[in-house]
Amino acid sequence: RARRDGAARVSAAPPLLPWLAAPLERAAALRAHALLIHGPEGVGQFELALALAQHGLCEAESGPRPCGQCAGCRLLASRAHPDLRVLVPAALRDALGAAAAAGDDEADDGAVKATKAKPSRDIRVDEVRQAIDWTRTTATRGRGKVLVLHPAQAMNAVAANALLKTLEEPPAGVRLLLTCADPDALLPTIRSRCQRVALALPARDAALAWLQSQGVAGADVLLAAAGGRPQEVLALRADGFDAERWQRVPGAVAHGDAGVFAGCSVERVVDVLHKLAHDLLVVGAGAAPHFFPADSLPGGASMPALTAWTKTLQRVARHAEHPWHAPLLIESLVAQGRGCFTTSAPRGRAGTATLAAR
Ligand SMILES: [Zn+2]
Repeated sequence: RARRDGAARVSAAPPLLPWLAAPLERAAALRAHALLIHGPEGVGQFELALALAQHGLCEAESGPRPCGQCAGCRLLASRAHPDLRVLVPAALRDALGAAAAAGDDEADDGAVKATKAKPSRDIRVDEVRQAIDWTRTTATRGRGKVLVLHPAQAMNAVAANALLKTLEEPPAGVRLLLTCADPDALLPTIRSRCQRVALALPARDAALAWLQSQGVAGADVLLAAAGGRPQEVLALRADGFDAERWQRVPGAVAHGDAGVFAGCSVERVVDVLHKLAHDLLVVGAGAAPHFFPADSLPGGASMPALTAWTKTLQRVARHAEHPWHAPLLIESLVAQGRGCFTTSAPRGRAGTATLAAR
């Protein structure tokens, strides 16, 4: 099929993550005006919400939806669709990329955008109220309107309550798409007003194939590192972890080398150490590790010490606002990890170096 040059350059939204095709089809068939897309983080909740929005706003008269070619699809791809509004916390906008900015142009929050403060992790009540006002205006392109809220738990109780009435009885033609990792973390009044769409972890083969298509080397190691969540693999890579560095972590921690975390945020370090402590505990109990290759894990860790270390990590993780990079905190967490190995010399890759360092 011949295409004009100009048309070929107009790209649609990024290709749908392959494991979202079936959930998209199921969700698109639901008639509810409020959907709650839930599942583990890093498997495409936000992407499914956007694809559903595009499905609803696509202007193709026939054929598969979304078509990727019509004016509606093109407006959506260029983040300029007037009938789509996306609410995400400011802190997530960069990570989610351009798509998260959809609808921002029309937002009447210039003053907020101009602030130099640390980006908010919340969807604020004033943002929710503005979005509600927007739902009451007439749709521009005749396909209704879609409001995406990602993630819904970023709304505090005040913001969530502001949304309740709209959620229960949205203006005609308005669809609300909420995402969350854990429906139980939402107010029951929010939860009960939405029809649920569950997203599961993709099958390992599908996830590996997609990662390889994205040019990810060592995809098997990194997919395990990310707990089976493909987009979390991309986040790990963005934080500087390739398969080689990932496999160096256990040995480095076993001899107290915090250098392996150079440039990492406290949040990332706590996440990685949690996974390491988990694996050391399950290996100590005779089970197979989840996150690290078995041969990268030093032996000889003390179970009580690992349990105490886990508690420390949980305590640090509960502090929502860390300094982004706090070398002293990271060093002390790694030192406590090192302390788990005092009962006998670590074996494996780290063994020789550790003995030499003593
Ligand atoms: Zn279309």
